Amino acid sequence: SKWVYSFGGGNSDGRAEMRNLLGGKGANLAEMASIGLPVPPGFTITTEVCTHYTQNGGYPEGLEAQVQQALAAVEQDLDMRFGAVETPLLVSVRSGARVSMPGMMDTVLNLGLNDETVEGLARKSGDARFAYDSYRRFIQMFGDVVLGVDHGHFEEILELAKEDKGVELDTDLTAEDWKSVIEQYKARVKEETGEAFPQDPQDQLWKAVAAVFGSWSNQRARTYRRLHNIPEEWGTAVNVQAMVFGNMGEDCATGVAFTRDPSTGENAFYGEYLVNAQGEDVVAGIRTPQNLTVEGKQKNGSDLPAMEEVMPEVFGQLCKVRDRLEAHYTEMQDIEFTVQSGTLYMLQTRTGKRTAAAALKIATEMVEEGLIGEAEAVRRVDPAALDQLLHPTLDPSAERKVIAKGLPASPGAASGQVVFSADRAEALGQEGRRVILCRVETSPEDIHGMHAAQGILTTRGGMTSHAAVVARGMGRPCVAGAGELRIDYQTGKMRVRDIEISEGDVVTLDGATGEVMQGEVATIQPELTGDFAKLMAWADRIRSMKVRTNAETPADCRTAVKFGCEGIGLCRTEHMFFDAERIVAVREMILADTVEARRKALARILPMQRQDFVEIFKIMSGLPVTVRLLDPPLHEFLPHGEAEMQEVAAAAGAPLEQVRQRSAQLEENNPMLGHRGCRLGITYPEIYEMQARAIFEAAVEVQRETGGTVEPEVMIPLVATQRELEILKSLVDETAQAVFAESGQTVAYLVGTMIELPRAALCADEIAADAEFFSFGTNDLTQTVFGLSRDDAGSFLPAYEAQGIVKQDPFITLDPKGVGQLVSIATEKGRSVRRDIKLGICGEHGGDPASIRFCQSVGLDYVSCSPYRVPIARLAAAQAAL
Ligand code: PEP
Ligand code: MG
Repeated sequence: SKWVYSFGGGNSDGRAEMRNLLGGKGANLAEMASIGLPVPPGFTITTEVCTHYTQNGGYPEGLEAQVQQALAAVEQDLDMRFGAVETPLLVSVRSGARVSMPGMMDTVLNLGLNDETVEGLARKSGDARFAYDSYRRFIQMFGDVVLGVDHGHFEEILELAKEDKGVELDTDLTAEDWKSVIEQYKARVKEETGEAFPQDPQDQLWKAVAAVFGSWSNQRARTYRRLHNIPEEWGTAVNVQAMVFGNMGEDCATGVAFTRDPSTGENAFYGEYLVNAQGEDVVAGIRTPQNLTVEGKQKNGSDLPAMEEVMPEVFGQLCKVRDRLEAHYTEMQDIEFTVQSGTLYMLQTRTGKRTAAAALKIATEMVEEGLIGEAEAVRRVDPAALDQLLHPTLDPSAERKVIAKGLPASPGAASGQVVFSADRAEALGQEGRRVILCRVETSPEDIHGMHAAQGILTTRGGMTSHAAVVARGMGRPCVAGAGELRIDYQTGKMRVRDIEISEGDVVTLDGATGEVMQGEVATIQPELTGDFAKLMAWADRIRSMKVRTNAETPADCRTAVKFGCEGIGLCRTEHMFFDAERIVAVREMILADTVEARRKALARILPMQRQDFVEIFKIMSGLPVTVRLLDPPLHEFLPHGEAEMQEVAAAAGAPLEQVRQRSAQLEENNPMLGHRGCRLGITYPEIYEMQARAIFEAAVEVQRETGGTVEPEVMIPLVATQRELEILKSLVDETAQAVFAESGQTVAYLVGTMIELPRAALCADEIAADAEFFSFGTNDLTQTVFGLSRDDAGSFLPAYEAQGIVKQDPFITLDPKGVGQLVSIATEKGRSVRRDIKLGICGEHGGDPASIRFCQSVGLDYVSCSPYRVPIARLAAAQAAL
């Protein structure tokens, strides 16, 4: 088998499409080399080797020989030798999974240096200081990530060396100083690991490779995979590549860039670089990076010169590479480069992470530029990320007490209590509190806290720092590098000038401006025009399923209409019963022990219920509205405590004792499987009759008033048998006829049922005889298929997810095997009896992109979801149809 793929030096074994085998980084290095971009030569050890290593703890046969062969090719290409004293070849060793994945061992640079080769490097470069600096960096990185010696050890030695010397900067240390630091580093490694620092470059190489493969299984990487649904079995590749140096003098540099602005999506080259620096210096936030372009410099208010000014020629080459990459990949790229003695080298390219706003802008502009088509634009925007755009931003007219300013690293507004550690953020987050994670800088160890936080604030680091990149990916607002703020982890305080902020105090971040404010600041609703409207229009053209909303209040209905819903798929009437003004009458109604008493209470509710529907029908002007008749267990409406009982007794003119007794009678052991849903309609038909009357009277009234039509769809919940529906459908039809006769007007309406019990799904052919539509209530269907209480599962489902028993919470993403199978069966049986039966889904899954894909696959006519999810569903439905 082929375990090793070479790249650079004029040819490449790999291609961009081979990311499963070569990882993202390896595949793209091969691709860049093959389109003629300047890539230092190297090779990629495949992800299959990682899988083998993870399963067997060793390497497959033939690997070693293939690695030596690939290494020899690099040596030949560069006329250097790995481990030779003269012209020593140095390499970098990096991980590279299919998708970029923080948490794993990342990079070892300068591998191949030892006490002897360092002298060769000094002679060859003519710069002893550079050579010894490189060697100590290597010991530091290798010691930390491969040998597991805490980086604090190395920092301590370095700090003391600088103190002894009376200097502040690393660059003030000489070759001799570095030699002494190196001796101390090696001694410390020996102390900590019990073994001398490895001198044999082959030994170094294989230890580094093992460390990369081993890190695939470490805790941080596992956490990241769990949060991002990345399968364990993917594995990572290892990339070994000839070193180029950005730290060999003032004509050297290293940098990272995005081919378009990752925050706004604007078609402007955007990046940061450092002169005379190596690899990770830019992202590590140790020195403040400089902008690539003059425009970027002005935008960020930086006084440091731009690359465009400092190295105009190399910058020109870099701009050509940018154009080449965009034309080749037809996608915004995130690149890493190094300039060695005036020559440009490309070290990485990948699809750039971006904010939702940027994703929209880039996708729509690339269509206009002719790079991609509309369908591709629709495919590229992550529906879940739209969420970022649909939520409020800071009200520009609200008062802001700005206490500091940093970089606008990830947009959106967030308020919350200040916390200074990721663990604390997670703990408070679990209590449902809103927190802002404040750190000097973040690292992959903080991911869980960043996830739990509403927003992230750092006092150090640039637009490409860890905090900024991860926050953008997660859609969390982030202000990075707010340098005026001083965080003291010891005391749990943050200071700026004379202002002191303690853990627990509330601050607000504006990720679009970089402002940090004291206290909470008011927010406003987003604008849904421009790029958003364009992309949505394309999505609407592509999708075949309709998107409705679950809403019952006028405000929610208006929001959903604004977001483009095409009707109401579920109006839960019980929510209208809990209104403070009505609840007494509702309680009186359910506690009544005669039909007359119940009718009397219902008569008081009727006009209010009718008014609800009048408002909704008007807002939905002509769109279909599915109204579900009363569903929850009567139990839920019972008065609690003495005061509420007295209130009901007074309203009903009944003795308190009678109310108390009747309440006790209605208590249930298992209300979710008790007296609820259509069982209420069967036992107390007056309730459904009143609701049907309210619906039809409202429809008649709105039709008369507006001259338009109203399309009510009356839905019966929790049906298990054909007969239940038959009885209740007659009741609805008779009520409709009565209202039409009284008003002299008719309304076109449908009667249908929810499918939320396994029996209903299995007997859907019988039920379809009376149902003009089915709406899958997958919340209850999941509950009843799994026998899993939707209200109690939260306490043990996380353990199920952690152990991989369920891949996702089945109440969030539809379980295709079990619940989905019943949906398929019911769909087929329903259609076999009634070819044109209307089919939809109104459980929470109707707003979940993966579940929407399932709905498309079984051929539902529509999905229905909460108002804020409507745009997400429109886009997801389009993607499902592609
Ligand atoms: C359902 O069960 O999926 C449903 C939509 O109804 P509810 O959530 O109101 O029980
Ligand atoms: Mg239900």
